[in-house]
Parts: sequence; C-alpha cells; structure tokens
Amino acid sequence: MGKRLVCACEDVSLDEVRRAFAAGHRDLESVKRVTGLGTGPCQGKSCVARVAQELLRLGATPAEIQPFTARTPVQPVPLAALAALDPAGLPLDDGVPLAPPGAEPPGPAAHPQADPLPPRADVVIVGGGIQGLSIAYELARRGVRDVLVLEQGYLNAGASGRNGGGVRAQWTTPTMIRLASRSLELCDRFAVEMGINVWFRRSGYLFLAPTAEQVSRIERNAELHRREGLRTRVVGPDEALQVVPELDPRRFRAAAWNPDDGVVFPWPFLWGYASRAEALGAKVRTFTRVTGFDTAGPRVTAVRTDRGRVACELVVVAAGAWSRDVAALAGVSLPNRPTRHEILVTEPLKPWLGPLVSVLGNGLYFSQSQRGEIVGGMGDPDEPEGVVQGSTLRFLARFARAAVETVPRLGEVKVIRQWAGCYDVTPDNNPVLGPAGFENFHQCSGFVGHGFMMAPAVAERYADWLAGRGKDEIFERFTLGRFESGAVAREDFIIG
Ligand SMILES: Cc1cc2nc3c(=O)[nH]c(=O)nc-3n(C[C@H](O)[C@H](O)[C@H](O)COP(=O)(O)OP(=O)(O)OC[C@H]3O[C@@H](n4cnc5c(N)ncnc54)[C@H](O)[C@@H]3O)c2cc1C
Repeated sequence: MGKRLVCACEDVSLDEVRRAFAAGHRDLESVKRVTGLGTGPCQGKSCVARVAQELLRLGATPAEIQPFTARTPVQPVPLAALAALDPAGLPLDDGVPLAPPGAEPPGPAAHPQADPLPPRADVVIVGGGIQGLSIAYELARRGVRDVLVLEQGYLNAGASGRNGGGVRAQWTTPTMIRLASRSLELCDRFAVEMGINVWFRRSGYLFLAPTAEQVSRIERNAELHRREGLRTRVVGPDEALQVVPELDPRRFRAAAWNPDDGVVFPWPFLWGYASRAEALGAKVRTFTRVTGFDTAGPRVTAVRTDRGRVACELVVVAAGAWSRDVAALAGVSLPNRPTRHEILVTEPLKPWLGPLVSVLGNGLYFSQSQRGEIVGGMGDPDEPEGVVQGSTLRFLARFARAAVETVPRLGEVKVIRQWAGCYDVTPDNNPVLGPAGFENFHQCSGFVGHGFMMAPAVAERYADWLAGRGKDEIFERFTLGRFESGAVAREDFIIG
C-alpha cells in the first residue's frame, strides 16, 4: 500500500504522525514540531484537521489537539510588497495575545500526562530548552542519571524552538570563540552520535560591514580570530560577491568571512538531546510548570510544581527568558531582561545561498534552510522588555526593507510564516552561570541571541564541573556576582 500523506507540502505521512504519538508527542504542536507538518506553504490548512482526528483516535485529549497558532501572513506575500510599507507607522504590539489580568498560562490541567512525577531526584533542571536538555544529557553521560527535566510546555516551546539555528565561532572574546568552536565540533558529529538528522552544514557566516567603523571592527576581530586559530578573513565586495553573487555591493564596504561557521535546524537538536538523555536514565516531563522552591538555610530542598513536589539535591535553572521569574520564586534576583525577537521563513527556493549573511549595524540576518526556505530575522531597538511571543507586521516591513536592500532579488520571494521568541539579555551580553543565592541553586541563563550555539559546549563543561572535575574558567567568570564587581568584558558582536 502506498504512503498515506497527511501533509502534502512537507511530505508527512499518517504513519509518521502515529510514530510521533507513540514516541510521546501527544499534542498537535509537538507532532508538528517533530514531523514538520503544517509548516509548508499551505500552513496547515490541508492537514491539521486530519491529524487532529488521528490524534484523538490514538487517545489524545481534546485539549491536546487544539490547533497550533496560526502564523501570519495569511497568504504568502512578496518581500517587495512588505518593503513598501513604512515600519515607522506600524505598531510594535499588534498580534500580541493579551491575557486577562491574573490569567494562568495553560497548565497540566489542559495537558494531562501519563508519566507521574518522581517524589525526588538528584538533579532537577527547570526548562526543557537546549540548555536544560543538553545538561541533562551530559550529566547522564557522566553517570549522574537521576536527573529530572521539568518543562512547562512542549519541547521546543521556548527560544530553542524558535531561533535561526546559526552556529558561528566569530566572536570578540577568547572565551566565546573557544566555546563556539567547541560547539561547532560537537555539531559536526551530533547526527551520528545522537541518531537524529539536524541538517547541520558548515557553509560559513558572512558579516557585511557597511561603515568604516564596522570595517575596523571586523579587522580587529579577524586579528583575534586568527590568533585563536579561526580562518576568518576580511574580504572586499568583489570577494564577498564570489560567495553570494546576489548581494548589492553598494551596501557594504567589506565583509568578515569564516567558511567554517554553520547553521543547524534546531528542533531535532532538542529531540536528540531529550531522547538520548532519557535513554541514559534521565526523566523529561513536559507540561509541568515549576511554581516554587522549598529551602532550608543555604540549600534548596525541593521544587514545587503544578503537578506536585519533588525533593532534590541540586537545581539548575535553565528557563531561558523566564529564568528571572523562576529564580525570583526562590528570592534570587537576576538582572536578565527578556526581549522579543521576530523571525520569518519564505517559500522554498532552489539552493542558491551558501552562508548565513548578516549586516552589522541593523541586525539583519538570513540563511537558506535545507528545505530551501530563506530563514531570517532582525531585532528592533524599540522593542520593550517582556516575555512576548506575538508577531507584528512592523517586523515584516523592517525585515523586508533591509533584506531587499541587501539582496534586491529577494523582493520576488514570498514570506509564508513568521513567529517570535525571546532573547534573555544580561547587562554584558554574557550568560549567568553557577550557584546564586543558595549553594545548590545553579543558573544557566542569559544567553541573549547565541544560547543555541553555546549550549553543546557549555553543557559539557557544566556537567564536568558539577561532576567535580576541577575548576572551570567560565564558572568563575560568569557568576551572578560579577555584576557587583564589574569584572567581565562586554560581548558586543550580537546580531538580531
Ligand atoms: C528569533 C531568535 C533567533 C535566534 N537565533 C539564534 C541563532 O541563530 N543562534 C543561536 O545560538 N541562538 C539564537 N537565538 C537564541 C537562542 O534561541 C537562545 O539563546 C536559546 O535557545 C536559549 O535556550 P534555553 O534552553 O536557555 O531557553 P529556552 O529554549 O527558552 O528554554 C527554556 C524553557 O524553560 C521553560 N520554562 C520557563 N519557565 C518555566 C517554569 N516555571 N517551569 C518549567 N519550565 C519553564 C520554557 O517553556 C522553555 O521551554 C535566537 C533566539 C531567537 C528568539
């Protein structure tokens, strides 16, 4: 019998949906994220009802088959049409769902889980994003197997499921360069070691420098990169055009080119870490929200959740943009500020774009996915602080203008979907690591726009450090206490 397709755009079959459900992905959003259904040009119009029906038949609850959020634009729209809009006249907050005052976020009542919570665990990790899951995996690999990851939503619900997938070693401090270089090495072998394809490719990062000041900046960086063993070169427009012939050479003076940087598809990265961690004994519980902590003197003794209490020896807060709120539940004050960043994908095109291209100054970045889509984002300096994940027309207009200026031919390309996630921003753009407030209350947050690429390397070192394998520079440099002593250099090569 032939394959029974449910999603024609992304070639997803009924059997794949059934396998996803059998593997524990019960709700529609998780099944979407594990199979890719509904992410193609029709945006779910042809498949969602059929898949929801199938999930109900398999045993999902009505709450679990709620359709995933419709992502604007409703129709594919060419970037040129969006570029014609004036972003200054468009509001920052359209599309933001407003919760009534005091409304509770969807919790376990809406998503009953078959797996009970254990009454205790050696290590409880709050947050099932890339940071939490990679630490769980690395701990489990080192023999610390009684690890419990608590995630308030589905895996990939946070920034880890919403990002651009860029992995680059082009940073401005030796620590960041070394961490990112190590992550790139780990990405090289991730698919083979974890048994899941993450579509990692090392097709380089090209940073365009439009001003003389930006050129000096990339020249200084390239010098440091060479000392750190990277192949970064500053190239003129002619050479940059050999890498991406479609660029408008009038828009930049020079570019920083590192052919060894790469891009990954984020979703399977999380599934890989989660399933390997579980195979080694760790437990991952989704739709379980941490609501508080019990403490005794200098120690946290238990984690409270909306599904019960778990006694523990150690807590790691890896809650991304929510970390400040989670730490506050234990009375610990983090300086992190969550800020929305929007991103979009276009219709799929034949492969034409090798590297991830980013324009210094305006924060534009885009790359071409292995499915052929252009995936790109751009920060907005006027974006206010807050955990907000709605989408705006203003972002589309800003992105479209900047993208079409950089590559005029992008004007013909149609946007099919947009979404948003949050950067978790610290005052010096570096993470907050190590214990804070209590001796066994660890932090792993504040990864701004580079937490995905840092996670594989940070998790290795975190697990070594927690397992008592000696001191580690990053757990001495990136403590919460640094903001009082003012000890750490600011990382300013942030994009988005
Ligand atoms: C648009 C965009 C583009 C980006 N591009 C890149 C890029 O190209 N490269 C890169 O390296 N990084 C990028 N980033 C940044 C990167 O995505 C983040 O730094 C990284 O994913 C953070 O991982 P995390 O595990 O710390 O947080 P998250 O992935 O946000 O995970 C935290 C989890 O904690 C859960 N949680 C929160 N509160 C609770 C609670 N009370 N109880 C239980 N669970 C809770 C959340 O639901 C969430 O799933 C981008 C981010 C955005 C938004």
